[in-house]
Amino acid sequence: MGISFDAVDGSVWLNFDIQPAANPTSATDRTAKLANPGFGRVFTDHMAIVRYDQAKGWHGARIEARANFPLDPATAVLHYAQEIFEGLKAYKRDDGGVNLFRPDANARRFRNSADRMAMAQLPEPVFIEAVEQLVRADRDWIPGGEGSLYLRPFMIANEVFLGVKPSAEYIFAVIASPVGSYFKGGPAPVSIWVSENYTRAAIGGTGSVKCGGNYAASLRAQAEAIERGCDQVVFLDALERRYIEELGGMNVFFVFDDGSLSTPPLGTILPGITRDSIIALAKASGAQVREEPYTIEQWRADAASGRLKEAFACGTAAVISPIGQVRSASGDFSINGGAAGPVAMGLRKQLVDIQYGRAPDPHNWIRNVA
Ligand SMILES: *Cc1c(COP(=O)(O)O)cnc(C)c1O
Repeated sequence: MGISFDAVDGSVWLNFDIQPAANPTSATDRTAKLANPGFGRVFTDHMAIVRYDQAKGWHGARIEARANFPLDPATAVLHYAQEIFEGLKAYKRDDGGVNLFRPDANARRFRNSADRMAMAQLPEPVFIEAVEQLVRADRDWIPGGEGSLYLRPFMIANEVFLGVKPSAEYIFAVIASPVGSYFKGGPAPVSIWVSENYTRAAIGGTGSVKCGGNYAASLRAQAEAIERGCDQVVFLDALERRYIEELGGMNVFFVFDDGSLSTPPLGTILPGITRDSIIALAKASGAQVREEPYTIEQWRADAASGRLKEAFACGTAAVISPIGQVRSASGDFSINGGAAGPVAMGLRKQLVDIQYGRAPDPHNWIRNVA
């Protein structure tokens, strides 16, 4: 089993060496863990690993038992945070087959993230092969029903050196975590806190790449949201502190009374694959979709006048979360009476049906894992 690619240093074959776990979880224990996995605390038996150093390029591709990394205390990632990640899911179809949703888009984004963080760029076919091989090794861990197997590819700077420079060594790995349906009985609308003290990203910064550092920088604002009784924080632009950007880990959409949608433009926000898919689905259904700046003042005014019908957040983990309440230091307002709206729920169903293979896939988003 292998794939060929043009490595940075020439054309090579990259084969994953499959080393099954010696002591995998028993079927009984696995069933117990899959009964109520929650999010991100239950893990499968295996992981995928590919290493990089300047002499060998990408090498040592393996599927092996999930285990600790031995890390020297001077490992670069622990000091200067050269780290990037991705998030995607494997879905079990009714016929027992397994779907991945747009893994090529994750692979491409991962390369862009690596480029911005001055890290080695993993060839896209290797990213996809690592994900597929791990899903094959751990396919018994994919929950049925509305659950899925959350896949977390990531890369860390592994050189042992305290000098400030791009690391010469990297570890790319993929781990997998079964997750239940994010919302039992449909998505509950979320309340969001408008952060006026903290920003997430500035022009020229790292807002558009998936690096762990962005999340570290968002946690204080998220904690403030929780203190204010909200579920999530929404960030404004760093320059004028007016334009809506996104939540800590989800993009946002607005739905208007003329049936059109708008979403903040790319630039300092993370280019979500869910965001991109929703734009495509909405356009295909005849809706007008604008990628344009939208201010918090306008949001408040449009909610009051009734011009704004719905707002929702979107991302791989939760798919679509309707936004019911918006709170800020300068006052609160609610959207659609605090309830989930038909456009958000309709788009959510369309997307989820494609992901689980219950609906046709006109955009060619599904990759079947044989
Ligand atoms: C991952 C992420 C998203 C959502 O991206 P998807 O590809 O749709 O999962 C949105 N915002 C941030 C900051 C993210 O890290």
